[in-house]
Amino acid sequence: MHYQGTVYRPPSEARSLIVQVTLGCSQNGCTFCSMYKDKNFHIRYLDEILADFKEARELYKNIDKIFLADGDALICKYDMLATILDFIKKYFPECKRVTCYASAKSILLKSEEELINLRKKGLTMVYLGLESGSDKILKRVKKGVTSKEMIEASNKIHNANINLSVTAISGLGGNELWEEHAVETGKTLSRMNPEYIGLLTLMIEQGVPLEEEIKKGTFKLMDPYDILKETKLLIENLNCDNAVFRANHASNYLNLKGTLNQDKKELIDKLNNALKGKEYIKEEYMRGL
Ligand code: SF4
Repeated sequence: MHYQGTVYRPPSEARSLIVQVTLGCSQNGCTFCSMYKDKNFHIRYLDEILADFKEARELYKNIDKIFLADGDALICKYDMLATILDFIKKYFPECKRVTCYASAKSILLKSEEELINLRKKGLTMVYLGLESGSDKILKRVKKGVTSKEMIEASNKIHNANINLSVTAISGLGGNELWEEHAVETGKTLSRMNPEYIGLLTLMIEQGVPLEEEIKKGTFKLMDPYDILKETKLLIENLNCDNAVFRANHASNYLNLKGTLNQDKKELIDKLNNALKGKEYIKEEYMRGL
């Protein structure tokens, strides 16, 4: 197996075979993000990718799940993805799911027919980073996409019967835009209607452009209790029936999990209790990315 640089994967892919299809992130400009800074984005050669799969086949008897790394593997041309998925089907018949990171751009570049075919060939789920539902914040953090495009991309994924997992980042609007961030993220997620929602909390890693904004005083980080208030408002604005909701990442101050909309009240009750000091709030030193 030939891994290059730091390899990132969603928490739910901890036990998956990971093969790098791309290196780095096709966007790579978000002001809060430190991932893939060691790589210039490019798509690997198909023969190198298939050689990694062949090696994995020789090494491992049973592969249940496969994650196609790095950032935005869906940006590869349809033919290449179709070849990879056919190869997986042939050589890993026991594999139950194949997933990858995607972006609104890589989804919108595919035709509905191509997405439907990728699903038939075994692509079961894509992970999409919304980060914020507010266009003002998306622009500010240089995400390079609008909430409308995120919703359009989600609709295409649903039409292809591919599962959708979406993440947002608490605190991304800072003290100034927290209400807009909460309301618009809740509303946009509702319109995206994903099967899975993951909420992370902003952490500033050394060298990211947002660090500079904090130093200049143009961005103010929120404290844990304001983050909880924001999360409460976000959940109040969520209407995603049957979506699995998780805010149990190492970066979160308070662990939350439930199924929407049925557990909405329970989630809000837990946040209210936390705001009254009746729940355990993670210490800063225990947080991580
Ligand atoms: S947040 Fe996602 S899209 Fe933005 S630079 Fe990081 S990996 Fe790329």
